[in-house]
Amino acid sequence: MITLSHANRLPVTIQYPYEKLITSERFCRRIHFEFDKCIACEVCVRVCPIDLPVVDWKFEMDIRKKRLLNYSIDFGICIFCSNCIEYCPTNCASMTEEYELSTYDRHEFNYNQIALGHLPMSVIDDYTIRTILNSIQRKTQ
Ligand code: SF4
Ligand code: SF4
Repeated sequence: MITLSHANRLPVTIQYPYEKLITSERFCRRIHFEFDKCIACEVCVRVCPIDLPVVDWKFEMDIRKKRLLNYSIDFGICIFCSNCIEYCPTNCASMTEEYELSTYDRHEFNYNQIALGHLPMSVIDDYTIRTILNSIQRKTQ
């Protein structure tokens, strides 16, 4: 009976990269960062277990405020715990569903504010691939 029940089952293997799973709502991967919203408070650095975000700022005497110069995160080291996102007071950082971060040069994992500012294309909008729901998403539908 078990063998017969498996005969009618759809294949569980995803034919990547022609097929991709639709990520779950709280999926944690590449961080998106909004430079204009950042106040250079460095809370993200203090809550990061490995002090990873690099916040480069300058104190402007005339306006008596910090001015953000550069912001970067090295995804070769990041453990995607999302602490920096949870504690950011201005919500300038958020998780995206981009998980395809492989590269031949590990230095390319170090994303500056320009690279962090790009929003990835959703797998649902990519007409070149077939999207698959994961088992939990299938059960809740
Ligand atoms: S916690 Fe948010 S506002 Fe503060 S430096 Fe980090 S990203 Fe910028
Ligand atoms: S996701 Fe976690 S490890 Fe990565 S930069 Fe944010 S706090 Fe640090």
